Amino acid sequence: MAAKDYYQVLGVAQDADAEAIKKSYRKLARKYHPDANPDDPAAEERFKEISEAYRVVSDPEKRKQYDAMRRAGAGAGFGAGSPAGFGGFGSGQGGGEWRTVDLGEFGAEGLGFGDLFASIFGGRRGRGSGAPRPHKGADRHIEVRVSFEVAAKGGEITIRVPLEVECPRCEGKGAEPGTPVETCPQCGGSGSVSLVQGGFAVQRPCPRCYGRGTLIKEPCVQCRGEGSVSERRQIKVRIPAAIEDAERIRLRGKGEPGPAGGPPGDLILTIRVKPDRFFRREGLDLHCTVPITIVQAMLGAKIRVRTIHGKKAEIRVPPGTQSGTRLRLRGQGLARDGKTGDQLVEIEVRVPEKLTEEERDLVEQLGQKMGAD
Ligand SMILES: [Zn+2]
Ligand SMILES: [Zn+2]
Repeated sequence: MAAKDYYQVLGVAQDADAEAIKKSYRKLARKYHPDANPDDPAAEERFKEISEAYRVVSDPEKRKQYDAMRRAGAGAGFGAGSPAGFGGFGSGQGGGEWRTVDLGEFGAEGLGFGDLFASIFGGRRGRGSGAPRPHKGADRHIEVRVSFEVAAKGGEITIRVPLEVECPRCEGKGAEPGTPVETCPQCGGSGSVSLVQGGFAVQRPCPRCYGRGTLIKEPCVQCRGEGSVSERRQIKVRIPAAIEDAERIRLRGKGEPGPAGGPPGDLILTIRVKPDRFFRREGLDLHCTVPITIVQAMLGAKIRVRTIHGKKAEIRVPPGTQSGTRLRLRGQGLARDGKTGDQLVEIEVRVPEKLTEEERDLVEQLGQKMGAD
């Protein structure tokens, strides 16, 4: 029997985007939901497979780990949603002992199979022998777009982070409240079973209860038996002044919950600074371009220029200023680590495209005067 491939289970291509995956998942979940297929164990089985596959593939971090495992040759066996899938986990059919392989050598940022397994199975499911060991939850990475002004001056923003949390209706049990939850007869509730393979005694997640240790008669209607639901959590984040595009902020303890009571992982924000129509940044300096008229350029002028700090600043344009001249507003740049940048104002002399008859006469007179000099 072939092992399950999460992408195949969800009917999507391996490089499908989040939207396509979600769409396909919803369609399949509706079709195979136990409510729509009462007393059809095959549909229920399929539904569990789909849910399991979606849990992994819909989470960017878990998906990355899963893809890394597939590349490392273990992917075909990583079928946590199906009994057949357990057969190939580890180092291929037959020799599949539990071991944590450092995927660093495969370019997967050092994530081990064990980490992946734990993050997929979460705290409710068995891992290895006996009770699951508590450990730190997975880090989550998200990109946050920040306005140019907030990135420049700093400030507080509110982000909404999708998180898997324990289902409040069934308290993570996966069973509809008030319906019986039986201890799994195959594993006796431990969530794992012992197999002898290649001379090793091997602990595997129980294929009957999917490592849960319990059998559910009626899945919870809120989480569809998953025990967890997706929630958007609002988090306030302080953005330090003069933060750069692609800089990261680590929020300790705001990542995935720690399996089996372990501490939660971190939330890592990658800051994306939106461009501004007026300002550009270069380190702590701000650059902008300000147009002036040809008359202002010839005679000189005082002009008012927008600054990032709210107030406009007055700047003197000396007579005879050429287009492209840079004038400096000292201290009007960004501040960071005790240093403050300047604002550099590039002057752009605009030549009028149309003249009234009177203006034309005057310019012609000026031309004669200048030519005569
Ligand atoms: Zn529930
Ligand atoms: Zn079991």
